[in-house]
Amino acid sequence: MNFELTDEQKDIIKAAREFAEKEFPDIAQECDREEKTPDHLWKKACDLGFVGVFIPEAYGGPGLGYLEHCLINEEFWRVDPGIGLSILSTCFGSEMILLFGTEEQKKKWLPLIVRGEAITGAAITEPDAGSDVSSVTTTATLVGDEYVINGNKMFISNGTRAKFLQVLCVTEPNAPSLHDRFSVITVETDRKGFEATQLKHKLGIRASDTTEITLTDVRVPKENLIGTAGRGFQQFMSFFDHTRVHVCGQAIGVAQGAMEQAIKHVRQRQQFKKPLASFQATQFKIAEMATRIEAGRTLYQKAAWFLDQGKLNSSLISMAKWFTGETAVRVTDEALQLHGGYGFIGDYAIERFYRDAKIVEIYEGTKEIEKLIIARALLGKY
Ligand SMILES: Cc1cc2nc3c(=O)[nH]c(=O)nc-3n(C[C@H](O)[C@H](O)[C@H](O)COP(=O)(O)OP(=O)(O)OC[C@H]3O[C@@H](n4cnc5c(N)ncnc54)[C@H](O)[C@@H]3O)c2cc1C
Repeated sequence: MNFELTDEQKDIIKAAREFAEKEFPDIAQECDREEKTPDHLWKKACDLGFVGVFIPEAYGGPGLGYLEHCLINEEFWRVDPGIGLSILSTCFGSEMILLFGTEEQKKKWLPLIVRGEAITGAAITEPDAGSDVSSVTTTATLVGDEYVINGNKMFISNGTRAKFLQVLCVTEPNAPSLHDRFSVITVETDRKGFEATQLKHKLGIRASDTTEITLTDVRVPKENLIGTAGRGFQQFMSFFDHTRVHVCGQAIGVAQGAMEQAIKHVRQRQQFKKPLASFQATQFKIAEMATRIEAGRTLYQKAAWFLDQGKLNSSLISMAKWFTGETAVRVTDEALQLHGGYGFIGDYAIERFYRDAKIVEIYEGTKEIEKLIIARALLGKY
């Protein structure tokens, strides 16, 4: 057994940290306030090889693992979660092509993502289909050689920036089993009938693009089907097993960044003629934050490592996603508390981190859904 990261992984962390520390702080507040994605940084990050590191060399990537992608997420989110998400979510959805696409589809789409020539995304959620993915109603009907797609998608990341999205649709409405009615179809966003509207005034991660999408008679060639018709639900469940660990990296990054801000503040701020850091109550808070972060990091790195070894463990991934999500929310809360009233005022980054952290308990499976997956593995299905 070896808990040490490789030299290559340590170099990746160092490079990601240097990039984020150099590029993010000056624009972080502005991107949050004005709800804008810093696309020039996405391009730079692609040039430096930070985007889509799990994509194999045959499709233009460096062929590293999901663990390396998590490590970069952690470093970016440590400096600014919103900007980190706006850069690294640009390859969210590529996992579906990697896992289920044909050789031709992989060669067509994946190199564009790594080179910074295209942004992608995954569109599952609908106004009435969130945690319950099987209640998706967007339809894709095969007419001749084309799918004709109609429906509405909700909360879709990168909807206004993406060149193409992996969309979950009902294609086999009459299949006896509900779970065998869906398919995944790549939809190019310049197709007639595709419309994305940015959702404004989010609580956090405001430097990222979250959208509502309307698909009205959108026609795509039948070759845009990813994987097998009728297996879309199962494909997305497998997809989430691969993408949830990335959220763990985000969660530990935002927690780590918040703790470092708290440490800096309690060393400087004096009350009762002493630094806040000298009070045992403060020391206990810092010790608890550091321990939770370390436990979360160890848990998610184990889950990601197993994934990269081809030993997928859904329950372990869900444990990591729930635990790191809760860690992010708790640590940012305590870190803000240690800033007192100053934490409540927007001049300090901790206020933004506190708002940004909440999303990791919601997207890609809420913490309640993660617990259901863990319990199901132990108790069976009820
Ligand atoms: C900023 C942002 C970005 C997003 N990006 C994307 C994206 O790119 N693509 C995409 O497809 N979706 C995306 N989502 C959607 C996200 O995945 C969903 O919001 C999430 O899955 C929860 O669905 P919901 O919001 O409909 O909540 P609901 O499913 O309505 O859940 C509400 C509450 O009820 C709980 N609940 C639901 N069912 C159960 C149950 N059986 N047992 C116990 N508790 C339950 C939930 O845990 C939650 O606390 C994004 C969301 C946000 C906010």
